[in-house]
Amino acid sequence: MEPIRNPKLADAIAEHLEQMILEGVLRPGEKLAAERELAEKLEVSRPSLREALEKLQKRGLIEITKTGTVVAQFMAMMTEPLAAMMQSNEQALIDYLEYRGLVEGEAARLAAIRATEVEMDAIETCLNRMRNAHKLDDPTAEAEADIDLHVLIYEAAHNVVLMHVMRAFSEMLHGGVFYSRLQLYTRPGVRDVLLEQHLAIGAAVLARNPDLAAEAATNHVRATAATLAEIREEQVRVARALRRMGRSEFVTH
Ligand SMILES: [Zn+2]
Repeated sequence: MEPIRNPKLADAIAEHLEQMILEGVLRPGEKLAAERELAEKLEVSRPSLREALEKLQKRGLIEITKTGTVVAQFMAMMTEPLAAMMQSNEQALIDYLEYRGLVEGEAARLAAIRATEVEMDAIETCLNRMRNAHKLDDPTAEAEADIDLHVLIYEAAHNVVLMHVMRAFSEMLHGGVFYSRLQLYTRPGVRDVLLEQHLAIGAAVLARNPDLAAEAATNHVRATAATLAEIREEQVRVARALRRMGRSEFVTH
């Protein structure tokens, strides 16, 4: 017997899931629970759920694969070509940091005002992860926690435009499009300063102090830009010195 389909129900499920993707509750790349489980939780039939998922797949919001259903990286259509153009382009890096300087402070301000209790907890957990990675001298884990903290703040700002755009940029940052985070994190003294800056942002958001949160986040981006400029200058200096050196200086006499 053909299972009964309820198109209105499928629409309602699709709309609900779409809202969750829009609001950032479901994140690009995240795998959804198995169909059976999801149908049970939503208290709907599996055919209705499947129909809803197919609707979302057609609109490019999810991908249905053999191993499960995944929220699509729908921003990648825009960011991948952009990343390719921006990769190792110096002016793009400067512009990126200027843009982040404009947005980051306001995101933190909104997060301090709008964060839910659940989001506050997530920010606190992330700060603890960052402290631990710092203590363990693990620059990779610390840099990961850095990106996560910023994304949590974008989410807590409760502005879906800001969240999706900034999340897409942080994916690019993750891929090393703008600069090497490891290069930043392994630079002597920088890790301590970054930790302090992140803790200051987190503390201000958790204390629900919008002005302080905005100030801390803006300072953080400015300081990062300054450090990256220093790294760049050093690289230019070394390259220049290397060019000046002749063959005779590389070999023993
Ligand atoms: Zn940061």
